[in-house]
Amino acid sequence: MARIQLMPDHLSNKIAAGEVVERPASVVKELVENSIDAGATWISVELVEAGLQRIRITDNGSGMEEDDCERAFYRHATSKIKDENDLFHVKTLGFRGEALASIAAVSRMSMQTSTGESAGTKMELEGGKFIEKSKSDARQGTDIIVDELFFNTPARLKYMKTIHTELGHITDVLNRMALAHPEVKFTLTHNEKQIFHTNGRGDLRQVVAKIYGMNVARKLVPIEAQTRDFKVTGYVAKPEVYRASKHYMSTIINGRYIRNIPLNKAILEGYHTLLPIGKSPIVVLNVEMDPILVDVNVHPSKLEVRFSKEKELYDAVQGAIRQVFRQETLIPAVEKPT
Ligand code: ADP
Ligand code: MG
Repeated sequence: MARIQLMPDHLSNKIAAGEVVERPASVVKELVENSIDAGATWISVELVEAGLQRIRITDNGSGMEEDDCERAFYRHATSKIKDENDLFHVKTLGFRGEALASIAAVSRMSMQTSTGESAGTKMELEGGKFIEKSKSDARQGTDIIVDELFFNTPARLKYMKTIHTELGHITDVLNRMALAHPEVKFTLTHNEKQIFHTNGRGDLRQVVAKIYGMNVARKLVPIEAQTRDFKVTGYVAKPEVYRASKHYMSTIINGRYIRNIPLNKAILEGYHTLLPIGKSPIVVLNVEMDPILVDVNVHPSKLEVRFSKEKELYDAVQGAIRQVFRQETLIPAVEKPT
């Protein structure tokens, strides 16, 4: 008798969830990305107990038709890519079709969604299994509630840190999202208290002010560079407002916050000797490029990417920052005694 069996979907989804859903902040990241991909201009995130009890994400994006509601929860089900070619031209934040299936597998989840044309649909799931489908109101957008995350994966639940730590991770996710999308109005509420919001007016400097304070925002200098393949924009803070951690360098590629060590190095080299040794600057760097030049399919969390033409990119970034601070690197001219 054959001993090898195909896993049922709810089991394979639960295993895949281990990669995609590490902690409440991963749920927030995935769901907010979906809202942005759906064209939302406002996104509300409501948490109870740092998301361990409840995460609710409401958006005014496109919403979903009834037919798509169930499919959205299947693994590898996506509206964002259709063929291999699309995979090399990803313009959306999501494309792997894993998030909803994974989150649903390890929580009690409900989703209400409507395209605004007719009545909406409400789906309820528990541990990845469909419980109920019903009609809901026709407000355009999507409203997702994730309750009791990891209720059926006790090992993962035990690994969760304090409320304070988990909330810190979520705030960080929201801050980066807001920096990458100043045109979206975000609100973040914890245990019914609003802890962060942006106005969605598209002014990056205002978002920086919200996150790092007015004193930093006042020290920002805009940067701009254009090469054949890359458009670099954003703000770099004057070297005097340095920080001890690299955490304050935000790098955004085509609207996606990413982490890339060489890119951070290029930023530091742009500052050259202006920063004290071992310190890091406050920077929000946006790079726009043809998606073919960046591989976002390196890791399930899509935080790491690979660039082709990386040398050109790093040179452009370093050059743009040097240019801005050139004045300050000049040795002051010695005035002739009169
Ligand atoms: P992916 O984002 O990689 O496509 P997900 O599992 O995150 O995979 O979502 C599956 C699909 O569900 C998406 O492709 C999209 O069509 C739909 N969807 C998810 N969230 C939303 C939302 N907030 N608004 C509209 N559609 C959504
Ligand atoms: Mg997604």
